Amino acid sequence: MNSALRPSRNGQSQIAVSFEFFPPKSAEMESNLWESIHRLAPLDPTFVSVTYGAGGTTRERTHATVARLVKETSLKPAAHLTCVGATREEIDSVIRSYADAGVKHIVALRGDPPEGPGAQFRAHPGGYQTSTDLVAGIRKLGDFEVTVSAYPEKHPESGTLDQDIDVLAAKVDAGATRAITQFFFENETYLKYLNRVRQRGINIPILPGIVPVQNFKQTANFAQRTGASVPQWLADRFAGLENDPATRRLIAAAVAAEQVLDLVDEGICDFHFYTMNKADLVYAICHLLGLRAKAA
Ligand code: FAD
Repeated sequence: MNSALRPSRNGQSQIAVSFEFFPPKSAEMESNLWESIHRLAPLDPTFVSVTYGAGGTTRERTHATVARLVKETSLKPAAHLTCVGATREEIDSVIRSYADAGVKHIVALRGDPPEGPGAQFRAHPGGYQTSTDLVAGIRKLGDFEVTVSAYPEKHPESGTLDQDIDVLAAKVDAGATRAITQFFFENETYLKYLNRVRQRGINIPILPGIVPVQNFKQTANFAQRTGASVPQWLADRFAGLENDPATRRLIAAAVAAEQVLDLVDEGICDFHFYTMNKADLVYAICHLLGLRAKAA
């Protein structure tokens, strides 16, 4: 395609990005996290989200990180929240405490059982039963933006992709205003999914979740547990580099760059990055997308 006609090269796409972080477990991780936040913040993300550990294990840390983002930065934080292991009253009190801390955006999820993805999920008898219930509960308690998950390769527990898209439609009917996808490596998978979602009459933004492959083995393991497929060509690109972290990083940047620039050429302009609390790779990809740091 002629360069001038390629949106990724003609600089005319209005690119928007958001970043996901996880709450730190130690003082050292905390300082890494904040270094990453300070590095990525000048790229002016639409929002930054902070995950909620399995079974609510990071409740305090998620809250503390999100509250600090509100207090010390001009970023718009989104707090992840799950239905796992808590009564409705307990979850409602977390939601109220977010409202009190000035948080206006929640990423509402069902969550996984404490044993991890793949184990059978059992809703807390006194809790929110599904992510759809949680979305409705959040909307009832305040004027929150509510983001939900979406699964281009279907959630592993869903029978079919159509059933999965029905669940997404229910979450939208309950008040979800945006979805972020599970990560994927074949853009075709996301683009086809987007098409089906639109055909189903779902019109909220469906942000592609992009995972820069900081560590191939870890990413492949995680993908297996969450039902995301890892194509052979991707494994081949990292093969033989187990003891060569410098080259792995260059390959990771090349893979992610290829993925996002191809999506821009397909007309996608809004990206969500799973940062793993590391800024460099994501910063470089955002630079390639044409984003430049804004003065504080
Ligand atoms: P849901 O959309 O609730 O779907 C889960 C399963 O339940 C699907 O198989 C669906 O078909 C089925 N289902 C839902 N409603 C119904 C119904 N009414 N009847 C029948 N079946 C139904 N996990 C965390 O612990 N903390 C996080 O911070 C976190 N952040 C995430 C962010 C993103 C962007 C994504 C994609 C996932 C995240 N997860 C997180 C993982 C998520 O919690 C798991 O994938 C979990 O297994 C599903 O929760 P969900 O809300 O994504 O799925």
